[in-house]
Amino acid sequence: MEPIIEIKNLTHIYSPNTPFEQRALDNVNLTIYRGESLGIIGRTGSGKSTLIQHLNGLIRPTAGQVLFQGQDIWSSKALTHDIRFQVGLVFQYPEYQLFEETVYKDIAFGPRNMKLGEEEIDRRVRRAAEFAGLGDEVLSRSPFELSGGQKRRVAIAGVIAMEPKVLILDEPTAGLDPAGAARILANLEAYRRANGATVIIVSHSMEDVARLTHRLAVVSHGKLPYVGAPREVFSHGEELEALGLAVPAMNRVFARVRALGVDIDPAVYTVEQAKEALLAALREKEGE
Ligand code: ADP
Ligand code: MG
Repeated sequence: MEPIIEIKNLTHIYSPNTPFEQRALDNVNLTIYRGESLGIIGRTGSGKSTLIQHLNGLIRPTAGQVLFQGQDIWSSKALTHDIRFQVGLVFQYPEYQLFEETVYKDIAFGPRNMKLGEEEIDRRVRRAAEFAGLGDEVLSRSPFELSGGQKRRVAIAGVIAMEPKVLILDEPTAGLDPAGAARILANLEAYRRANGATVIIVSHSMEDVARLTHRLAVVSHGKLPYVGAPREVFSHGEELEALGLAVPAMNRVFARVRALGVDIDPAVYTVEQAKEALLAALREKEGE
């Protein structure tokens, strides 16, 4: 696997040398690979947003480096400028940042800033709308008449239209019902596959992201105590709960069953996996 972003010894201190000094990231290291789907999870205030805002140069490290394709993103002005188009960031509640009179214009805003031609802008707007799950008929409407879920999709389409190599979304499912959340995650997965892009999804709900991501990085007090495949991370279910994380329900149930002395897979986190693990345990018992 080829690294696309390397985070090296990254520390971020807000308001240094004041009474409000806050060490939001503390010597963090993480390599993010081209084409992967990465979930970043942690409770509110753990440092997730601070971490991802470093990846497109929105905030500058207090110490350490962020490399994009091997180059420090702060090493030249051109690179610091360019990184905003290569690494697209969708903020939490991005629907509050819509401002154009039509959905089309809103989605076109990013590509227009990239100084693309009219034809290319049009192609990108339509393609991005499709990836975000918006029908053509929505493009001429005012974003302000849309439902909350649709506004969120418009904002996501606006970033997708820049066709970033890395697409980062800060809590993209916050405030959506489970069906709406699942649809947005499926749309993002389709974008990743079609473009070979890297997709990074930030969430305080592990259940949402664990199903759709190859790897999870757990943020706690400005550090990354666990990084790995969901199964690896969830094998530490009890430690994650101790860090105040909402561990998936099935993972919690299985931890309780294990505590009762039953030898059962600790890495389970979905209902389907739970079924498999229970059937395997029953088969074993019958064989005794
Ligand atoms: P998360 O996204 O996981 O909720 P954040 O990265 O927003 O966490 O915040 C990490 C820590 O940094 C928190 O203690 C938060 O209060 C603090 N923080 C975040 N943004 C700022 C800021 N602009 N100024 C000062 N402190 C901040
Ligand atoms: Mg946040």
